[in-house]
Amino acid sequence: MKHERIIFHIDVNSAFLAWTAAYKKNILGEELDLRDVASIVGGSQESRHGIVLAKSAKAKAAGIHTGEAIVAARQKCPNLIVVPPDYHLYVSASRALMEILHRYTDEVTQYSIDEAWAEFTGFDRLYGGIVTFANDLKNEIKRELGFTVNIGVSTNRLLSKMAGDFKKPDLVHTLFPEEIPKKMWPLPVDNLFFVGTATVKKLHMLGIYTIGELANADLNILKSHLKNHGEVIWNYANGNDLIPYVYQHISNKGYGNSITTPADVVEISQAKQVLLSLTETVATRIRMDQVKISCVSVSITTSSFERSSMQMQLKTVTDVTEEIYLAACEIFDRMYEPTLIIRQLGVHTSHVAVDGVRQYNLFDKDRFDKLEQYHKAIDSIRRKYGEDSVQRACFLGGKISHLSGGLDKERRTGVTLGLDLAKEQEVSGRGM
Ligand SMILES: [Mg+2]
Repeated sequence: MKHERIIFHIDVNSAFLAWTAAYKKNILGEELDLRDVASIVGGSQESRHGIVLAKSAKAKAAGIHTGEAIVAARQKCPNLIVVPPDYHLYVSASRALMEILHRYTDEVTQYSIDEAWAEFTGFDRLYGGIVTFANDLKNEIKRELGFTVNIGVSTNRLLSKMAGDFKKPDLVHTLFPEEIPKKMWPLPVDNLFFVGTATVKKLHMLGIYTIGELANADLNILKSHLKNHGEVIWNYANGNDLIPYVYQHISNKGYGNSITTPADVVEISQAKQVLLSLTETVATRIRMDQVKISCVSVSITTSSFERSSMQMQLKTVTDVTEEIYLAACEIFDRMYEPTLIIRQLGVHTSHVAVDGVRQYNLFDKDRFDKLEQYHKAIDSIRRKYGEDSVQRACFLGGKISHLSGGLDKERRTGVTLGLDLAKEQEVSGRGM
């Protein structure tokens, strides 16, 4: 059957582990392949960061889950090999993957460090058919870079992403619209993109257990229980595209930072202080590079490792901390539910402009001009006398660092990391 559009979703299998394994084997020449043994990538074991970030097939077979404590993982598998994360390596592996995709198309949208969509419309008439091409591409990545990917093939982003999550590793799956009833509808509803634990509970109460049951449910009933979110997931269950909900979400052309909060954050005021501290770091980097941004997104990971994010298009380009922070707070307020226990928060900015000129509105001209001058002064004081030489009074004596996310740390890469932590949920929208 001929399809109007062809979209691939490319997803690295156990990315952090595979990248470290490929590096150790192919570059360092080590004998052992971490993928052949029970192994995990995990943060330091003393702190709260001590969780499983990625696992090998054998570690998975031992019952180890991504996101669980390393201590618990070791109990399940005493001879488990634990390797530390290496963010520099991940960024370069990710870049190498994107370069291969760009050999064939300019339409590449990176979604996270190890996932991207790429458009291959028209390719079904080349390379011996689209599935053959997908397999060739998958094998080219494996041969050149030494790690495997899954490729989901369909006509839109939602369906290709769903196909990319079918059986792993090293496989190509199609999920064309005509295959939805057979391949997608029998799956449990929590396999659907954007359906988290809280939503699953509500759906179960409505007697909805499979994606097919959701697709065929009464939209008005869904909306009365789940508001707009009900309509969004009903559309997904019927195979309708993500756009505009996901819109160039995490671009590596942006500036972002996330942090695992020092203690589970339950109060809005604490969360906003973390957001301010993250924004300070992000905005400083933006100013250091003498650019401006016009899109802000916030991500939240909960204590049960559910991740969601939402973004907002600003009316103007900016490099002013306060302006980015106000946007981050506005987004946060839209996402926040009182039952949330926040474990990780992130602020990301994108749509970077090199010669961006501020669009003034009648009332804020003076205010933001002054703030731009003010931040230039603060930045130069910090450069001369150190990061801690100037800080906002609201951080004094508190537990939250006034600059979060590692301005001076090795993570200053411009890529938001830690994305393998949990099943992603996206709640993005433009121009809110
Ligand atoms: Mg992956």
